[in-house]
Amino acid sequence: MNLEVFKFGGASVKDAASIKNVANIIQHHASRPLLVVVSALGKTTNALENMLQAKIKNEDWKPFLIDLQQHHATILQQLNLPTNLLESLFIELEKKIEVVGKLQYDFHYDQIVSFGEMLSTSIVATYLNQRNNNTVLLDARTLIATDNNYRDVNILWKETEKQVTENVLPQLQNNKIVLTQGFIGSTKDGFSTTLGREGSDYSASIFSYCLDAELMTIWKDVNGVMNADPKQFSDAEVIPQLSYYEAIEMTFYGAKVIHPKTIKPLQNKHIQLMVRSFIDSKTEGTKIFETNLHISYPPVKVWKENQVLVSIQTRDFSFIGEKHLQKIFEVLATFRISMNVMQNGAISFSCCVDSNPRLEAALDVLHQEFKILTNENLHLATIRHYDEKTIADLTKGKEILVEQKSRHTIQFVLK
Ligand code: ADP
Ligand code: ASP
Ligand code: MG
Repeated sequence: MNLEVFKFGGASVKDAASIKNVANIIQHHASRPLLVVVSALGKTTNALENMLQAKIKNEDWKPFLIDLQQHHATILQQLNLPTNLLESLFIELEKKIEVVGKLQYDFHYDQIVSFGEMLSTSIVATYLNQRNNNTVLLDARTLIATDNNYRDVNILWKETEKQVTENVLPQLQNNKIVLTQGFIGSTKDGFSTTLGREGSDYSASIFSYCLDAELMTIWKDVNGVMNADPKQFSDAEVIPQLSYYEAIEMTFYGAKVIHPKTIKPLQNKHIQLMVRSFIDSKTEGTKIFETNLHISYPPVKVWKENQVLVSIQTRDFSFIGEKHLQKIFEVLATFRISMNVMQNGAISFSCCVDSNPRLEAALDVLHQEFKILTNENLHLATIRHYDEKTIADLTKGKEILVEQKSRHTIQFVLK
């Protein structure tokens, strides 16, 4: 089956006009088997997170719910869809928020935040059928099986493959467009889980892998993968072709255009990935694929804000050895803190991490054994395929606190 998998992110379905545009793109490609993965509308996931925070702090969370209901209701009205379409989902959501307490934050997070995608896909599926695009909506929680490491689950691949092939293939064979949620899955016990923020790209790649898709396309508000975020660098340009290797490196260093976990399943089955614009669907975008050919890349810049440089020193001037590093890594892993840059000296180990509410707790544990120094509000600049001009541009007027260089990549922690 020459299946194509599409992924539409929040920006592509932010309002009624955007949803119409998405439906046009789907309709245009519906002559071949198609599975479509959709994220929550616009900034819905952030709104759900804010509502949960309010509930936990014992503040008034209802206004957040009312805002969400109104936003979704406006879209229903503008698309001429039944006004009660989302009623039962909103009732269920309200019940789930009411029982949230201070404990088991990650569990409650997933039970609540997963509603964003349930709401958006209900709208998009109903709208496609109203336009006579023969669409079936499948609940991703019956397809994607995960463990219970809430908010950052691991995929149970065997179960997922079985569920996806058993449920999706018959629908595709029946010439249905299959629509499902990105970002969410469920545990064996039937609790909702999420794959990590921006995880819908990863969902699409899991479906592509399980169904041996021929092609996966991520539709974005940019013309493809660029050599920098165009919101940060006005001279950013589209890179027409990327190897899987280059793509996984870029996303690992923080290029926000694709979720970092997306590439592996695609590479493992040699499924080509296109990143294209939903605004200008005539532009070709970026092709990401397996290639041995030498591709010449421009300098690729990734700029991250809100970085913290942590320096961890032994208290008695003993060398930082493997046992100390083991302890440090163990604590950081337990608190799910990933290191963006690491460096070690005789008696100290330094790492640069994203500012994170869990960092303080992790450092409290390490403080029992080590002397800890932190430096906040820093920037991390990473340049792949660096040249002197790009280095000079990015570091100009800044103090360099850490510099690390390999053959293709240079990183600076900057103040
Ligand atoms: P989605 O709607 O799929 O969630 P996102 O908003 O997460 O889309 O991602 C698209 C945004 O990614 C673009 O608007 C752009 O600002 C940003 N971005 C960051 N790095 C890059 C890059 N290297 N190339 C293109 N876009 C990038
Ligand atoms: N809606 C989720 C988020 O905003 C997942 C996604 O959009 O990929 O993080
Ligand atoms: Mg996104």
